[in-house]
Amino acid sequence: MNLILLGPPGAGKGTQAARVAERFSLAHLSSGDILRAEVRGDTELGRRAKGYMNAGGLVPDDLILEMMSRRIGDLGRASGFLLDGFPRTAVQAEGLDQRLTDSGRHLDRVIHLIVPDAALELRLTGRRSCPQCNAVYHTTFSPPRQDGVCDRCGAALAHRTDDQPEVVGTRLKMYHEQTRPLVDYYRRRGVLADIDGERDVDAVTAAIVAACGSGA
Ligand code: ADP
Ligand code: AMP
Repeated sequence: MNLILLGPPGAGKGTQAARVAERFSLAHLSSGDILRAEVRGDTELGRRAKGYMNAGGLVPDDLILEMMSRRIGDLGRASGFLLDGFPRTAVQAEGLDQRLTDSGRHLDRVIHLIVPDAALELRLTGRRSCPQCNAVYHTTFSPPRQDGVCDRCGAALAHRTDDQPEVVGTRLKMYHEQTRPLVDYYRRRGVLADIDGERDVDAVTAAIVAACGSGA
């Protein structure tokens, strides 16, 4: 099964992706996590992407399409995937379609997580992220057992530069302008499932699993 998690920053894509990928044994490909690893590794891609990311903008389509096509290509043909944070523009969605057609794959479901902007601002400014294993926490909604330390791997948690209040507004604007139109693109294709992402984490996971059917 091949899935996309579509939704604004802070909608819970990363939180849900970890659970849904495990539930259906899918490879989880998060464009944001991949880019942050490139930035940490000070690679050429990381150096080119960093400025856009810190300012809350989108990394150019050609860089993203090359990066994600390579990652999807690296997966064995038998492996299903769950895309998180990609595609984010019409050009990326069309590029992905082409890539999938060329490799004889198709999309089974696009999960659209719906959360209003006011809730997103609270989620993003309180988010704490593990730079080592990519686990996600929230200072109020899902705090780690020990303040500032990842439950899973023990690394020090980070407050992402792009989760500072002054950058969050730009990211939400980019979402509404560039990414939100993809909801209609996939709805027309008959693969979209609208999910209320404002409920608690378990309820959202259950709704996603139900929307994906048996996973066959
Ligand atoms: P995204 O990957 O879409 O940007 P995340 O999964 O990182 O979003 O979640 C953003 C923040 O919101 C995190 O701090 C996370 O702990 C919190 N969060 C995720 N899902 C929920 C939920 N259903 N209710 C409350 N907080 C949530
Ligand atoms: P995320 O972790 O999904 O919130 O992504 C963090 C940042 O990485 C975004 O604000 C963008 O700057 C960049 N990014 C991630 N995915 C993409 C994408 N598909 N297209 C363009 N930029 C992206």
